[in-house]
Amino acid sequence: MKQATESRRGDPLLVISDLTKRFGEFTANDGISLELEPGEIHAILGENGAGKSTLMKMIYGVLKPDSGTLKWRGKPVILHNPAHARALGIGMVFQHFSLFESLTVAENISLAIPETVKLLRSRIAEVSTRYGLPVDPDALVHKLAMGQRQRVEITRCLLQEPQLIIMDEPTSVLPPSAVPILFETIRKLAASGCAVLFISHKLEEIRSLCHKATVMRAGRIVATVDPAVESSASLAKLMIGRDIPHPSRSAAKPSDVPALSLHNLTLAPDDPFGTRLDDISLQVRPGEIVGIAGVSGNGQRELAAVLSGEQPLPAKQNGSVRLFGGDCGHSDCGHRRAQGMAFVPEDRNGRGSVAEMTLEQNALLTGYARNLVAYGFVRNAAVSKFAQDCIHEMDVRCSGGDAEARSLSGGNLQKFIVGRELALKPKILVASQPTWGVDIGAASAIRQRLVDLRDEGVAILIISDELEELVEIADRVHALFRGSLSPSIERGDVTDELIGSYMAGNFSPEKLSVEVSGP
Ligand code: ADP
Ligand code: MG
Repeated sequence: MKQATESRRGDPLLVISDLTKRFGEFTANDGISLELEPGEIHAILGENGAGKSTLMKMIYGVLKPDSGTLKWRGKPVILHNPAHARALGIGMVFQHFSLFESLTVAENISLAIPETVKLLRSRIAEVSTRYGLPVDPDALVHKLAMGQRQRVEITRCLLQEPQLIIMDEPTSVLPPSAVPILFETIRKLAASGCAVLFISHKLEEIRSLCHKATVMRAGRIVATVDPAVESSASLAKLMIGRDIPHPSRSAAKPSDVPALSLHNLTLAPDDPFGTRLDDISLQVRPGEIVGIAGVSGNGQRELAAVLSGEQPLPAKQNGSVRLFGGDCGHSDCGHRRAQGMAFVPEDRNGRGSVAEMTLEQNALLTGYARNLVAYGFVRNAAVSKFAQDCIHEMDVRCSGGDAEARSLSGGNLQKFIVGRELALKPKILVASQPTWGVDIGAASAIRQRLVDLRDEGVAILIISDELEELVEIADRVHALFRGSLSPSIERGDVTDELIGSYMAGNFSPEKLSVEVSGP
């Protein structure tokens, strides 16, 4: 509260009083009141389903409140639609992007701003320089990485000269390396007097960036705090209403024979911007969790593709991938799944699910081999129950098994995909970023589930750029650096210094060959 008085620069920009929004019987926002000053970076915190996006959508004119009022720069307003909000100076960067892939950056932006592409190109360049958002106006959107697409969205927003920008989970689509650039932009915006509403599940991000935080739980505000004086644990406790349990775990008791192994695998990337995998040897035994740390872009995607069978090895290939001792490097995903492998891919929207399909149909995509199809016919009742079990088991917030995947928030869809893969009762699980975009309570539940699975004898490989996650659950951690794998560090020996130096490539190849034994 102290912070707010200090940063006060005149009258509030936005005053929300007693805003309520219902969906049928369900109250998604219940009597929300909030004030925002110019230049204030204000976090909205809460578990998946707490009502954060609903509140943002009311401020952006996407949803109409059932009751309550909004005052913008001292005057009561009723927002009719987003265009109205934009005209007043309110901009929003969405969690899911809304760009046309086949158009260039400037063409996309020209759809929202009635100016010639020529004039826009120079304004885009100007805004990019001012706010440190490098984007090429002539690049085709389909060629852009997630971080670059987000810059396009932010640039489009900034060109309309907003006084308030709403960012709904902007960091959940970014590789960690791109986060500091975004934060620099946000700080510049705030310094120029623009207010920012910022939603994130990463409490450390909020503590370093935001002046004030409003915590929501089940549609209500439960606290307003200065995040800098809180700890991540105290913020988490406010969010979920109790202490976050840390996964309880006993020592790993892995069997000796690896379930999954790679032997001296070297592979050129199939995409010109990909990473070459360089002489990778790796073993995952039943009953252990092996973590792969590293800054994303160091071969994680390529490694996952080789393990899952999405990228089968070429006919003439040095090195091998083995499942229970048998060579499987040339077989496809279906073949590997049939042997008891399950995967949680990094990209939940493209690879993990099909947006236009219902959750039931998405469950069938990988569950077909588990008794969901008989004599060539889909067993609808069984599929429905399977999807329902995943929803129940992972506490997925959605309207039911017939909800389309795209109707779920990112975190909820992630929970569904993890639930589906676990329900397949795999012998080997390969999971990339298993808790990406998932709130802190659900992330801790997923981690506990993974540890339990390990105790049941499942071999688990987790690729994650969240080091804390790996430190919490992995029994051994390797680091991936420019396509090379470091030796593994046993759980008790992991220190920030050691893993940090491995992540930066300081490990010796000699050690590597000693560490990993042959077939
Ligand atoms: P958050 O952004 O905090 O994760 P949301 O504001 O998206 O939460 O959702 C809050 C609750 O409202 C969720 O339980 C969600 O299922 C429900 N909800 C959101 N939008 C709709 C809608 N259009 N129809 C029905 N229920 C909805
Ligand atoms: Mg949301």
